[in-house]
Amino acid sequence: MTMSEAILESLETSLRGELLRPEDDGYEEARRLWNGMIDRKPALIVRCTRVADVIEAVSFARESGVTAAVRGGGHSVAGLASVDDGIMIDLSLMRGVRLDAGARTARVQGGATWADLDRETQALGLATPGGIISTTGIAGLTLGGGFGWLSRKYGLAADNLLSADVLTAESEVVRASADENSDLFWAIRGGGGNFGIVTSFEFQLHEIGSEVLFGPTVYRLDDAPDVLRNYRDFTRDAPNECTVYADLLTAPPLPFLPEEVHGTKVLFLIQCYVGNLEEGEKVLRPLREFGEPLGDAVAPTRYAEAQSRSDPLYAEGARNYWKSHNLTTLSDEIIDSLVQCAARLPTPQSDILVHQLGGSINDHPPEATAYPHRDVQFVVTPGGRWDDPSQDERCITWVRECHRVLSEHAPGGVYVNFLGHDEGEERLRAAFGENTGRLRKIKARYDPDNFFRMNQNIMPQT
Ligand SMILES: Cc1cc2nc3c(=O)[nH]c(=O)nc-3n(C[C@H](O)[C@H](O)[C@H](O)COP(=O)(O)OP(=O)(O)OC[C@H]3O[C@@H](n4cnc5c(N)ncnc54)[C@H](O)[C@@H]3O)c2cc1C
Repeated sequence: MTMSEAILESLETSLRGELLRPEDDGYEEARRLWNGMIDRKPALIVRCTRVADVIEAVSFARESGVTAAVRGGGHSVAGLASVDDGIMIDLSLMRGVRLDAGARTARVQGGATWADLDRETQALGLATPGGIISTTGIAGLTLGGGFGWLSRKYGLAADNLLSADVLTAESEVVRASADENSDLFWAIRGGGGNFGIVTSFEFQLHEIGSEVLFGPTVYRLDDAPDVLRNYRDFTRDAPNECTVYADLLTAPPLPFLPEEVHGTKVLFLIQCYVGNLEEGEKVLRPLREFGEPLGDAVAPTRYAEAQSRSDPLYAEGARNYWKSHNLTTLSDEIIDSLVQCAARLPTPQSDILVHQLGGSINDHPPEATAYPHRDVQFVVTPGGRWDDPSQDERCITWVRECHRVLSEHAPGGVYVNFLGHDEGEERLRAAFGENTGRLRKIKARYDPDNFFRMNQNIMPQT
């Protein structure tokens, strides 16, 4: 990118936040993303501290014709928060949360993480459904749909969005809600960052108290085929208060597991029950008592602690390659394939995670919001994670192979936020499904020149 010092100086003076060039202190740290595989070098990083900075950055990028990328939490596994030689509009210093305790709502700035929001809401025993790793950005997660431990009870993060302030490509700030710009409001609940920069989100909160029943029951990989069949049967009738993820991984050295199990391949059934905890004990008992667990650590847990318990398994900076499938059921064939793939986990950090969805998420028709997958019961994601670049090929090959094997039994849909950087047009269509056409029309209305294109991109309808 070539531009005169005078233009850059004028941008710099207009900002309350910082403008970073490659030679500046802090540039290396600011350009780093969660996925260590992604090594993009923007020509400029605008570290915004208020909405006016975001407006300046968008106007600057448009006028100079440079590609802009928008960074919220920086967790996109595809690395979409940055761009080589372009401008990174970084919202990660804009993390304010303001609660309205009476109305049970929270207004959250566009660079906040789930840890920021949970910390504030939990002070009042409130929460809204978010992701299961506390360092993930609320922005990218909500804009793609967003599910976690509370979603079967209260819906997607996007289902709990009441309104948003959106900065369009024309540098206009518009409000999107059911009553204002309702087409935009529909599109940002599943259509990603295609329509503008969301500078603040307003969420509905729910009274959940400060504790949930939470933790894993752990099994040998040899027992996984039977345990996963029981899991499938259990989850079929489980109440919406109860959510169980199945994770096939290498056992970390956790104190509740016998030492000889550490470092072996195991199945974790990670359970979360939100509601009356005594009732939760009864509901979860048949799952926890099945077969011969190696260990069990399900216990009353502070919700904010549950929300960050798995953070160490997803450490920032590790190299990551994922591929994902939506599933409407866990067939015997899928279960057997999962176990076979898990037997070949390429590194101790890699896993295959099965998210349980369904419940309230599926109370809406597919056209209610841009997120279309309202019949999905499980999302399965082989996640390759490693540190040494010399392992790239081995780990990527393992993920691709698992994905291929699972494809034979999967119906074809995929969650947009689990798409990687190399997926292609067909997978993008599988992510937006039957809502693709309407999304393209709304894109044409709010961003006809496709200024916001560092995302799982929706082309404006011409
Ligand atoms: C460790 C880990 C755990 C995860 N767990 C879950 C989970 O439990 N549930 C779930 O649903 N998903 C989960 N995800 C996926 C997650 O939803 C996506 O990675 C999401 O994109 C992260 O949002 P972010 O703001 O951190 O990402 P970023 O990389 O900052 O941004 C992702 C996309 O959103 C755009 N964007 C960011 N901020 C804004 C904004 N303010 N306005 C407009 N566009 C913006 C970016 O331009 C980019 O296209 C997880 C991801 C990781 C890496």
